[in-house]
Amino acid sequence: MDLYSGLPYWLIKNQLVNHYNPLKADMQVDVAIIGSGITGALTAHELCRAGIDCAVFDKRMVATGSTAASTSLLQYEIDVPLVDMERLLGTDVAVKAYQASLQAITDIEDVFNEVSYNPDFSRVSSIYLASNKKGRRLLESELVARQQYGLPVTWLDAEALWEKHRLKAPAALKNTEAAQMDCYRAATYLLHYHEQQHGLRVFSPTEIRGYQETKRGYDLVTADGFRIQSRYVVIAAGFEAGYFLPKKVMDLNSTYALISQPVDEDQLWPERSLIWETRKPYFYMRTTSDNRMMIGGADISYKDADRRDRQLRAKVEQLKQQFGKIYPDIPFEVDMAWCGTFSTTKDGLPYIGSWSGKNRMFFALGYGGNGITFSMIAAQVIKHILLGNDDERIKIFGFDRSH
Ligand SMILES: Cc1cc2nc3c(=O)[nH]c(=O)nc-3n(C[C@H](O)[C@H](O)[C@H](O)COP(=O)(O)OP(=O)(O)OC[C@H]3O[C@@H](n4cnc5c(N)ncnc54)[C@H](O)[C@@H]3O)c2cc1C
Repeated sequence: MDLYSGLPYWLIKNQLVNHYNPLKADMQVDVAIIGSGITGALTAHELCRAGIDCAVFDKRMVATGSTAASTSLLQYEIDVPLVDMERLLGTDVAVKAYQASLQAITDIEDVFNEVSYNPDFSRVSSIYLASNKKGRRLLESELVARQQYGLPVTWLDAEALWEKHRLKAPAALKNTEAAQMDCYRAATYLLHYHEQQHGLRVFSPTEIRGYQETKRGYDLVTADGFRIQSRYVVIAAGFEAGYFLPKKVMDLNSTYALISQPVDEDQLWPERSLIWETRKPYFYMRTTSDNRMMIGGADISYKDADRRDRQLRAKVEQLKQQFGKIYPDIPFEVDMAWCGTFSTTKDGLPYIGSWSGKNRMFFALGYGGNGITFSMIAAQVIKHILLGNDDERIKIFGFDRSH
């Protein structure tokens, strides 16, 4: 599957990391991690720190799947609003999912503090705009629910929005717990760090083409015919994980993103907030450390890569116009644009853990607009399962959740 096309900014900004080699012999490892994107990298980080022997395999150059195309907004707010999730899954699950998502942002920050590296991670405020009167009503009930469960949120009416943020909308929810980063840099650095510090083995490009359960765990076979004997397997294969899944659990969408040329810092909007909206599919925007504006959205359901790519030019115009309506005075010259594929689940939650009866194969599938915070949760949950520790998030994000 083509995960994206066009020029994702992060691949241009950072140098391509291509110093890994494919697997050239049979090998053994305790935990084989399939996928070197942000999910595989965070999982490798958690396992290496816990002293668990692991190795990473990727059929592409490292982290050049969806991770390279990601706009990397980190928000505790999940694509499905808390009030809707409560209706779908019950209050307990919904609130715990939101709390886990909030904690994951701090945990990502901590990961990079631990390895003394900043992948352009910065804390920013997040503004969730009511796109219309219906959106305002949604935000009113969302405010009450979030306040009730101690989630950080404040209300901005139309006047305050204009005064503080130069935004015209019926109302908005704001919180100051959001963040943004460079996800490609984050993933590639973690792999490099643990290769140096803990002897993490990374094989790329190495495609896993076959797998068989054994008494001891799994035998994996690469496209070149080499055999990997592992006790456990972590599927961090992103939207291509379907090959390992007994059943379809997600729907595929196409999404579009673009980045502006740099502008003077004082031309950017107040607080450089993350901005998104209640309309579906939602439009969203952020800034980068080199004073560019990154915007995205205009999602459509995925049929094939050709259809997705054919629409890129029209979608760029659409997104640029949407930006112009929000901040008409900020000049936006498009520098690069790309389209990507991403998955969503009906309840907005990721799938983390093992499929019933397959207790040595763990899935780390962080789907939806919060894919990265979900990757953090998946990495921790899988480490806890391997160490035999309890983690109540298994019930919330596992395959046998009752929804
Ligand atoms: C345009 C866009 C914008 C986004 N914006 C955001 C955002 O703002 N915030 C957010 O949280 N999330 C966002 N996401 C989602 C987020 O980027 C993803 O959830 C995240 O990057 C997924 O990381 P991953 O490591 O699971 O998958 P990937 O990065 O796709 O990595 C999976 C890897 O597995 C490898 N692989 C697959 N099959 C095999 C196999 N058989 N053998 C070996 N290797 C294999 C692939 O080559 C790939 O490198 C966005 C996604 C896109 C496309």
